[in-house]
Amino acid sequence: MSGAAARWPAPKPAEIAFAWGCFAQFDRERAMFIAHLPAGYLMARRLAPRLAPGASPSRRLLAVCLAAAVLPDIDLLYFYLVDGRQTLHHDYWTHIPAFWLLATGTAIALFRIARAPVPWPAVAGLLAGVFLHLALDTVTGGIAWLYPYDTGRIVLIDVPARFGWWVWNFVLHWSFALEIAILVWAASEAGLPRRMRELRRRSAAAMLRRRALRQERAE
Ligand SMILES: [Zn+2]
Repeated sequence: MSGAAARWPAPKPAEIAFAWGCFAQFDRERAMFIAHLPAGYLMARRLAPRLAPGASPSRRLLAVCLAAAVLPDIDLLYFYLVDGRQTLHHDYWTHIPAFWLLATGTAIALFRIARAPVPWPAVAGLLAGVFLHLALDTVTGGIAWLYPYDTGRIVLIDVPARFGWWVWNFVLHWSFALEIAILVWAASEAGLPRRMRELRRRSAAAMLRRRALRQERAE
């Protein structure tokens, strides 16, 4: 093993997912910023072992839940690359609850027609992740829960536009504390503080070893 690999052990999938959730997963239009993936992780940790007992099936279902927890935001690709930011991305079908119910119902029907076993744990994990995402987007963003009966978006907390850059409106609003709380909770369940302490300990030990080696060579 190389020295670098010894100092920096490979992160666990949950840690990679968590870090990505912190720094890369931004729901950019009046909604949750950083909580989708950490919240998905907290849910998946509880759901996966119950729906899919056993280490390997449970890990697979955890991955399904995590992916589902950010899946609706795949529409950001369309929002930026195709639509030119013309439509609020919560109005795309990926953020419409009725679409996911219809799509899931259709998929189950196709499994039945093909006389194939329906992968119920995966279906449940997918729906749980997606609906958790939509619930979180309802806090400050707004989701058309009653579509097609009502196209209006339902939102729990209205964040006023007080700053020029929209990001400050959300980050400096009290509701952002909820996201921080979810983040801290998920970090603690993922064992991130312990992992960071371990990394610090290992890098300090490696530094001492290098110093001792330099002194040895100099003598
Ligand atoms: Zn979203």
